[in-house]
Amino acid sequence: MSDAIDSLYRDVVLDHYRHPRGKKKLDKVDFRNSGKNPPCGDEIEVELQLDHDTVKDLSVSCSGCAISVASGSMLYEVIKGKSIEEVRKIARVVKAMLKGEPYITDGIDFGDLDVLEGVKKFPVRIKCALLSWTTLVDAIDRAQSGNNSGMSTTE
Ligand code: ZN
Repeated sequence: MSDAIDSLYRDVVLDHYRHPRGKKKLDKVDFRNSGKNPPCGDEIEVELQLDHDTVKDLSVSCSGCAISVASGSMLYEVIKGKSIEEVRKIARVVKAMLKGEPYITDGIDFGDLDVLEGVKKFPVRIKCALLSWTTLVDAIDRAQSGNNSGMSTTE
């Protein structure tokens, strides 16, 4: 990776870290889930407002390292307004991207998410970047199975 890309990656991550986009209060919460990444101390809470099969609104509150907070902030920007099917597709792509596996973006707009690809160079940080996604997908699984409470972990 060139220095220019390295510093772009750092700037984007730090901007999301300093100004997390999804940290807000929803007027109505349909599903909520929290997650932890104990080795790093990252903690996250995701709240969803669903309208049939669409994530109408969500909030993401994350405390922890820059990567986990930035990933949760990017998740918020990309996921808001998407259908559950698209959310699952995006989460699969993010996972593959972080693990350095092949993926197809299928014309979906990924916003700033592509900078997360830089994380694959730092294996201990992959779980930090995945925490918000794992927690979100678990919340959606619960929403679809009708069980509204729980705790996720990247362990
Ligand atoms: Zn972390």
